[in-house]
Amino acid sequence: MFDWVNASLNRKIGSILAVSLSFLLIVIGYSIYQIRMINDELKEVAHVDIPLTEVITQVEMLQLQQHLSVERYRLLMQKGHNEKNSIESFFDRHQAISRLLDRATLLVTSSFENDTIQFKPAEYQLILDEIKAFSDINNNFKVQLKALLINGSLPDEMWEHLESTASTLDKNIVIILEQISQLTKESTQYTEEHQRGFMLIETSLGICALILSSLLAVYVLHVIRSRIRNIHLQVERLHTSLEQGVPIIRPDEDSFKPSDELGELELDLKKMISRLSDEMDTRKEVEQQLIILATKDKLTDTYNRHKWSEQIQLLIGLSDQNTPFSVISLDVDHFKKVNDNYGHQVGDKVLQQLANLLQKDIVKPDMVFRMGGEEFLLLLTKQGLTTAAEIAERLRHEIETFQTLGLPKFTVSMGVTEYRAGETENQLMTRADEALYKSKENGRNRITTMP
Ligand code: GH3
Ligand code: MG
Ligand code: MG
Repeated sequence: MFDWVNASLNRKIGSILAVSLSFLLIVIGYSIYQIRMINDELKEVAHVDIPLTEVITQVEMLQLQQHLSVERYRLLMQKGHNEKNSIESFFDRHQAISRLLDRATLLVTSSFENDTIQFKPAEYQLILDEIKAFSDINNNFKVQLKALLINGSLPDEMWEHLESTASTLDKNIVIILEQISQLTKESTQYTEEHQRGFMLIETSLGICALILSSLLAVYVLHVIRSRIRNIHLQVERLHTSLEQGVPIIRPDEDSFKPSDELGELELDLKKMISRLSDEMDTRKEVEQQLIILATKDKLTDTYNRHKWSEQIQLLIGLSDQNTPFSVISLDVDHFKKVNDNYGHQVGDKVLQQLANLLQKDIVKPDMVFRMGGEEFLLLLTKQGLTTAAEIAERLRHEIETFQTLGLPKFTVSMGVTEYRAGETENQLMTRADEALYKSKENGRNRITTMP
């Protein structure tokens, strides 16, 4: 089935037009049908009912005249008058009635043939039969009249019989006229009913088409608005991520199938966000690498001199707020000999091994720095001189006793000191170096503390 909700915008608008046009076509079709019906009904009234009424009214007039003439003729005959002139007018009138009746019959039969009569054909057939019956009685009346006129006088019962026939004819013609009038009335009623129905259905269909079109238009607008809002939301989210430097959420573009122009726009946006997300990730990695390069020593993976400067300034700042910290200055004993005896590469390995041992024992937030060559600094945050000396001695012992395959044994000398409130970095470092120098001077592989 046609999935309207997920259809493209073009198809949605197309379907609205199709539904509205269908309604319009139904309205037009129904209007044509109704107009034709009304037209046929009016045609029947105009082409059959009205001329038929006219003809039959003429028959009625002639019949009444005939009836009155018979009455008058009878009275005159009874008074002994001889009304020879009336005889001709009797037959002329009869002739005229017959002609009118033929015309009426022809009118109805031809209307049947050319389909002018479409509604109530049985009633028209009845009128036709009535006309035929009237015609027969009228002919019978003529025979009776002829006999009367030939004899000149007649017995009373024959007169009565003649008058009774004339009355029957009068009544019949009235009945025929009533029937025609009834048909005309019914036709007019049907026309009015059709007109009313026509108006009602036309209006209802029109309102339905209007409501439906409006609802569909509102729905399409709602769909478009919510999708634009969705796109806007994604742009906003991207904007916020970029502003706050938080990672961009990667949209799921693979499962997204665009169904229209807005969908294509959304897909383009998703692709762009994905690319941006990738680029942000790459940038983050590069930044991370740069930070490592800027703060770490490549050979030993300990922090470098640059990081030391940054960190010591920070700690001096904190120490002014009464946070103690200590520094251990460390130097490998006779390292030159290591290089000389085992080669520079082994020397490098010794330095790496030493860094490993230091980093294993010194845990965050304490830090190990390589200041150059075989000289290291240990920054013990929040540690006073006593604890720092304990740590230094422990490290010294660990290094002295450390042994591994392929590397010569080595020792270190250390100078331990605590930061004195208010002093500069230089003052602190001079003291640490002094302590280290003392260790060297006193025979190496030892620690010297200087408060
Ligand atoms: P001391 O006990 O007095 O400290 O003697 P020492 O031999 O350790 O002192 P000195 O400062 O004379 O020697 C340091 C040597 O360290 C000199 C230099 O060739 C070597 N060195 C400096 N940097 C590196 C490095 O990155 N790798 C290697 N293998 N050797 C280095
Ligand atoms: Mg040295
Ligand atoms: Mg040395």
